[in-house]
Amino acid sequence: MLWDLYQQSQIRATQAKVESASNRTKDVRDSVLKLEDRTDRLALTTMAMWALMSEKLGITEADLEAKIQEIDLSDGRLDGKVRVQAKTCPSCNRKLSKRHNKCMYCGAETSPGLGSL
Ligand SMILES: [Zn+2]
Repeated sequence: MLWDLYQQSQIRATQAKVESASNRTKDVRDSVLKLEDRTDRLALTTMAMWALMSEKLGITEADLEAKIQEIDLSDGRLDGKVRVQAKTCPSCNRKLSKRHNKCMYCGAETSPGLGSL
């Protein structure tokens, strides 16, 4: 009898864990789907911008490649990535992303960096 109660509570605890893991999996899947949508939208926007720039301004593929390399090298590495390095808030000394021009902790203005591109 006591053993049965113990077994039932173990089963209930396991069921709760499975349900929780299942919910987390669904959340991750939803996040990935949202990211895929955003990436698709960004790719579409980039293609449209490139088409306009090459048609209206006469910018060539070589110009684009040169600019990509220049920006890629701005963090000292030609690796196909732009690393956003942390900067320090001049007011509260907390570490911040270079993307932010305002401290998310104290609201102080920070100088814009290359990461703000
Ligand atoms: Zn701050």
